[in-house]
Amino acid sequence: MSTTNYSGGCHCGKVRYEANADLSSVMACNCSICARKGALMAFVPASEFKLTAGEKAVTDYQFNKKKVHHLFCATCGIHSYATGSKPDGTAMYMLNVRCLDNVDVESLKVTHHDGKHS
Ligand SMILES: [Zn+2]
Repeated sequence: MSTTNYSGGCHCGKVRYEANADLSSVMACNCSICARKGALMAFVPASEFKLTAGEKAVTDYQFNKKKVHHLFCATCGIHSYATGSKPDGTAMYMLNVRCLDNVDVESLKVTHHDGKHS
């Protein structure tokens, strides 16, 4: 897996992060929240994610099993990333690829995940 360093964040600029991610395949999911967000996601281990601004600007939203923290900017409302843990407890970050700087989203290979039924 080859990773590239990306920067990204919310719309108003309060929330900013950097992450090393592999965008050779990104995930679209049809679960209740992803469908509403329209997010395309890339998963990175916690060690590859660094929040550079906005720790206090985000609001945490959780639902259902409350395994994932759906963080969004309290000012502009954009969900630029989320965080949670894998079944083995490893911390993971989910980047909303649409919020990364200088990424041509239309050129990415999208894998569809049936989150609605899993
Ligand atoms: Zn914002």
